[in-house]
Amino acid sequence: MSAETNPLSKYFRKPTIYVQIPTGGRFNPEIDKTILDEIPVLPMNAIDEISMQNPDELLNGEALINLIKSCVPSIPNPRELCNIDAELLYLAIKYATYGKNIQHLHTCTECKEQAEYNIDINKILDRFPDIQAVDPVEYEDLKIHIHPPKVESLTRLALIDVEQHRILNSMKETAEGGDEMEMAKQFAISFRKVSTQTISLLISSISQIETPDAIVTNEKEIGEFINNIPTGIIKEIDEKIAKLSKKPEGLTTFEFICEKCQHPDAVTFELNPVNFS
Ligand SMILES: [Zn+2]
Repeated sequence: MSAETNPLSKYFRKPTIYVQIPTGGRFNPEIDKTILDEIPVLPMNAIDEISMQNPDELLNGEALINLIKSCVPSIPNPRELCNIDAELLYLAIKYATYGKNIQHLHTCTECKEQAEYNIDINKILDRFPDIQAVDPVEYEDLKIHIHPPKVESLTRLALIDVEQHRILNSMKETAEGGDEMEMAKQFAISFRKVSTQTISLLISSISQIETPDAIVTNEKEIGEFINNIPTGIIKEIDEKIAKLSKKPEGLTTFEFICEKCQHPDAVTFELNPVNFS
């Protein structure tokens, strides 16, 4: 039975807030231009809420993609969204579902007193930057066009982080064991994995490369190009992508003042749903 003919359909969830995304949709031509000023956000349904509690789905990024599909149906393909837009939508969905306040239990670093604090989601939403398009990186007669990292990269970034922690831990362990050969080997293996992921993240942030007589969008061809150019130009592309995706400092930092001893603590939250609860 479709929603139109179901006599209960008028009771179905409705958008509770409307938001704009940081990039204004400029890197996502597939999004309908007419909704960009007021993107409707629905509250979570029961399935969404349960999925957000499944750690496996959270870690592989599928939970966020499915959540946006369900609660922001006007976005045709959440996978293609820029990371920063998805992060804002995630907060907006929490707002639409639970209201503007997030409760946070904080322990004072000074006197260890525990207390519940309110975080106003509006404050975080207001701190998001406007992301403008950037000039392409020029290399000989080529123009390399880039965009902020997309949702798919979010998971890859998280994996790189996990990998880097793993390197550090295993290096520590091996150093304690005193086996230098093993340590060097471990490091080389892990380092290679991390650099491969960093490069693939960079490739996925290139939308197209303009040559004097063609436009290349094929990811495999772009990958071969990246693997065969001097490292200096890679660094330039990398820096430009980093600048594009940089969030303002303090975006998710809040100060909690202890009621007991008046000590102020600055606490920074992760926007990634894996950690942000
Ligand atoms: Zn205190």
